[in-house]
Amino acid sequence: MLEIRGISASYGRIQAIAGVTLSVPDGAVVALLGANGAGKTTTLNTISRLVPVTAGSILFEGRPIERASSHAVVRAGISQVPEGREVFRDMSVRENLEMGAYGRSDRAGIRQDIDRAFDYFPILKERLQQKAGTLSGGEQQMLVIARALMARPRLLLLDEPSLGLSPVLVEKIFAIIRRLNADGLGILLVEQNASVALGASSYAYILENGEVAVEGRSADLRHDDSVRRTYIG
Ligand code: ATP
Repeated sequence: MLEIRGISASYGRIQAIAGVTLSVPDGAVVALLGANGAGKTTTLNTISRLVPVTAGSILFEGRPIERASSHAVVRAGISQVPEGREVFRDMSVRENLEMGAYGRSDRAGIRQDIDRAFDYFPILKERLQQKAGTLSGGEQQMLVIARALMARPRLLLLDEPSLGLSPVLVEKIFAIIRRLNADGLGILLVEQNASVALGASSYAYILENGEVAVEGRSADLRHDDSVRRTYIG
């Protein structure tokens, strides 16, 4: 569903990614791994059009999007969950979810989608009127994922969902990720937690200094000695 061919992006004179090629097959979970600063977030940001590409192409369901606006990319069916659980802290859980439906006017559909979000994240229903800034870290992570789902994406760009969460919460979040994928959502998953990400994905790319250094089936990479030594420890 997503084909990225040789994309590069820079911040001023700093080249953040150089010639990255990767693909997400229809409805797959693909992991994008690598150390701090390897270029993972930049890669996601080029897809969601928050960062301009200086070279290469991005095709989503066969259509080029590398020059589209970020709104057009959301409308096309791609939603990003940013790193760092950026909820609107002073807004309620409900208002945060409604912000995810920004640009939509079908009130009945929005209500339906909020109900569907509760199906994945029942705890959010209990917290509906609570200010998002007062939620726990795990609940905030659930809220940002639920908010991204409000745009009805077919592909979710998920940036470091495990960051700063306890192992129990990480397991909880990944159980929901597996369920979303089973229901047909494609996912490009950025993670520093290689072990968890390789367990949740079918294919993985490892970035180093803005380039793809290793790629392969996740099951193979999990058992690869040099990958284990370098990225799993
Ligand atoms: P992390 O897990 O720390 O977010 P990452 O793999 O996602 O790492 P990026 O955030 O994509 O890496 O960063 C890639 C490179 O681009 C790094 O060298 C980083 O310092 C640089 N960079 C990222 N954002 C900016 C920015 N806004 N301005 C300047 N340089 C940036």
